[in-house]
Amino acid sequence: MSAKRGRVFSGARPTGRQHLGNYLGAIKNYIALQDDYDCVYCVVDIHALTTLETTHNLKENTLDMVLDWLAAGMDPKKSIIFIQSHVPEVTELHTYLSMVTPLGKLTDLPTFKDKVRENPNNINYGLVGYPVLMAADILLYKADTVPVGVDQAPHIEFTREIVRSFNYHYSTNVLIEPKMKVTEFPKIIGIDGQLKMSKSLDNHIEMAGTAEETTKRVMLMVTDPARQRRSDPGNPDICNVFAMHKIFSSPQEVSMVNVECRRAGIGCVDCKKLLAHNLNKNLEPFRQRRAALAQNEGAIWDILHDGSKRAKVIAEKTMTEVRDSIGLP
Ligand code: SF4
Repeated sequence: MSAKRGRVFSGARPTGRQHLGNYLGAIKNYIALQDDYDCVYCVVDIHALTTLETTHNLKENTLDMVLDWLAAGMDPKKSIIFIQSHVPEVTELHTYLSMVTPLGKLTDLPTFKDKVRENPNNINYGLVGYPVLMAADILLYKADTVPVGVDQAPHIEFTREIVRSFNYHYSTNVLIEPKMKVTEFPKIIGIDGQLKMSKSLDNHIEMAGTAEETTKRVMLMVTDPARQRRSDPGNPDICNVFAMHKIFSSPQEVSMVNVECRRAGIGCVDCKKLLAHNLNKNLEPFRQRRAALAQNEGAIWDILHDGSKRAKVIAEKTMTEVRDSIGLP
């Protein structure tokens, strides 16, 4: 890979078919970064094992997610796209990093407390250490840039602390402190009109759904609750349908909805139909590319295996340096 502005690492758990929240909040940014950075994009299947409910259908979910990535524009010629467990050096680095990580720091992280709340019956050792595994992902590939939302900033700061601790302890500079590339991702609200779009909440709209499925989901979207009847004026500023229009509809349509909603000139059903139409128009080229890619499943696994080989070259070099720094015999 040629040197660009630096190396980006980002990983995502294999969650199967992606939804609009995944696309607008992460995938779109992954694609945009490819021209300026050497990008390493990873399906973090080992991370998925820390919570029991995400361990089913790992293979199928990986394939579905990667199909969405590729169809959306992630390019294996520009980026390394691979599966975390195919480069097991990450688990070795995780072990070494865990020796320089105070346990109290891990259990104090807000994300750990969230996970404990979400999984009270499965607070396992891996769950405590997953920020260390995350750090190992970034450091193994010598990524100097990590795209994050504001809420993930503490994890990168935590990774930087581990680097300082490791480098100080072993009097080395082999690990690089990554910097954050903070992006203000739009918060995409689900069809319930309240919570962040999420598959587990079943409030999502899939990127790869058919036009009929997509329209059905859009028609279920919760609107301004003040509009009980067609003749009631509404407030688009508090309506998620309008928020989506701003992303997927033309400026003229956005301005029309903005005006007509307030004076009950357009009903919610027509407003949603217009959104569904525009959404389907936007997604159609993606769906066609995805369908074509899905014809040849073997080619997708080839891309992932090739990505793993390229990732392994970087990983092996880093691990030689790490072992030497530690002084392992
Ligand atoms: Fe929302 Fe559109 Fe209904 Fe206004 S007309 S409340 S923007 S769905």
